[in-house]
Amino acid sequence: MKKITKGIYYLEDLGTPSIISMYLIDSKKKVLIESGPSATVSQLIQAIVSAGFRPSEIDHIVVTHIHLDHAGGASLLLQAMPNADVLVSKKGAPHLIEPSRLRASAKSALGPIFEIWGGIEATNSSRIHTVEDGVSLDLGDHVLQFLSTPGHAPHHISILEESSRVLFTGDAVGIYYNDLDALIPASPPPSFDVELALQSLNRLSETNPQVLLTPHYGIQDNPSIFLKRNLETYARWKEIVNSNLEKGSDLDFIIEDLCQAYPSYRTLVNDVYRGTLFRMDIKGYLK
Ligand SMILES: [Zn+2]
Repeated sequence: MKKITKGIYYLEDLGTPSIISMYLIDSKKKVLIESGPSATVSQLIQAIVSAGFRPSEIDHIVVTHIHLDHAGGASLLLQAMPNADVLVSKKGAPHLIEPSRLRASAKSALGPIFEIWGGIEATNSSRIHTVEDGVSLDLGDHVLQFLSTPGHAPHHISILEESSRVLFTGDAVGIYYNDLDALIPASPPPSFDVELALQSLNRLSETNPQVLLTPHYGIQDNPSIFLKRNLETYARWKEIVNSNLEKGSDLDFIIEDLCQAYPSYRTLVNDVYRGTLFRMDIKGYLK
C-alpha cells in the first residue's frame, strides 16, 4: 500500500501478470475504485485487510466501466462487503445485473485472457446505483465528481476527487508499461471509438488534475505530459492503422509499422499476456 495524499491509497496491482492497479479512499464513507476481475477477488480482500481496513467498512465500489478486468469481480466482492453498493454508469448497470451477453462477448474478444481474468456473475439490482456525468458524491472528507469519458467504451466514466484533484482515469487513458516506458492505447473492439477517446483525453486535461491514478498501471504524477503523450499516441495509431488499411495490408504489417514508430513495442509483442492485449487493441482501431 502507498499513500497518494490524505485518505487516498494505492493498494497494489492484482494478478500475475499484473491485471489492474487498485485504489482505496478512506473517508467517512469508504470507496474502492473498481472491483478488479473475479480471479483476483481474494487477493484484493487480503490487500484491503493488510492495509488496515475491514471489507465490511467499504461503502461504495465505483466501477469506471463494465469490462471484466474492472467490474468482473463486483458480484463476488459484494458477498464479502455486506455494506457496499456498486456505482456504475446508467448504460453499464444492466450488464452487471444480467451479464450473459457481456460474458459471451468478452469470451470471444479476449480469448486466453478470459480465463486469466475470470468470468462475471450477476449482481443483484438492489446493490447497484447509477451515477451520471457531473454528479458529485460527498464522502464526508472527500467529494467525488463523475465525468463521462467515452471512447474506450461508450459508458465509461472517470472520477475526480475535488479537493486533491486526484483523477481516477479508468481506461480513458492508455496502458503504460513502466518497465519498457511503453504506452499503448486502451482500444479494444467492439466499441472503441478513437474520436471519442481523443475528446475524453482533452476533457481529462481540462479538469486540471494534480495526479492521475490509472488502472494499467499505477500513478502518473505529471498529468499534462502523460495526457499529451496519450493524445499523440492515440492519434498516431490512427494514422498508422488507416494508412495500412488503405494499402490493404494485414495485422502483421500494422504491428511492424507500430514497432518502427515505437521500438519499445517489440518486447510487448513477444509477451504472451501483453502481446495478446496489444493485438486486441489494434483490432479496436480496425473499423
Ligand atoms: Zn476496459
